[in-house]
Amino acid sequence: MWRASNIERIALNNNRVLVTDFDGTMTDRDFYSLVVEQLLPRDVPDYWIDYRAGKLTHFEALQKYFQAITTDESTVLKLINQMKLVPSLKESVSQLEASGWRIVIASAGCKWYIDKLLSKAAVSLEVHANPGRFESGRGLLMELPIESPFLSHLHGVDKAGIVRHFLEAGAMVAFAGDGFPDVEAAKMVTADLRFARRDLADVLKRDGEGFQPFDCWSEIADRLIEISKS
Ligand SMILES: [Mg+2]
Repeated sequence: MWRASNIERIALNNNRVLVTDFDGTMTDRDFYSLVVEQLLPRDVPDYWIDYRAGKLTHFEALQKYFQAITTDESTVLKLINQMKLVPSLKESVSQLEASGWRIVIASAGCKWYIDKLLSKAAVSLEVHANPGRFESGRGLLMELPIESPFLSHLHGVDKAGIVRHFLEAGAMVAFAGDGFPDVEAAKMVTADLRFARRDLADVLKRDGEGFQPFDCWSEIADRLIEISKS
């Protein structure tokens, strides 16, 4: 279990933290959309309809899609490469960390594929996501992170809770995301440190909230490095 001690909290006072979504933010494509598009039998129900109707949580909808995978692990491993992790990730992470930025991934997806993509890119980062394991014939079995201090029954991981934790510890907090589950967390940081694209950008525009648009995660890194110099 991860808990900040008082000493850690004091040490955080001068720190800068980037809390970032993973799917669609550090990657081009979302894992679940590739799964639905390429791996699932046609007769799998549209669980998003049940989610929008309030019959399933966001976590349960994803969990059901991932459990419906009938292919073997090697097929799924090929699929995660199609998510297209930002190519210059290792370099951007090193530069951000050298500028005093701590990077924290906050994802409503599954830690299983996030860890695989990060390790392939030779990058080690703090990841808050839903734990899971792959079992041939049973699919990707995703579970709620019940031991996490940031547990959300809706999304698995409480992104806004993570942002709040670092704000309360006195850190300068930036947030980056691309989807509806990112809205609450994004609104907690100042507009100059709020990075958004796709659905998140649309919601922020609709709500009259300022944000920094981005096409590629490495642009966020460049912008934050500039901020830390000023
Ligand atoms: Mg996303």
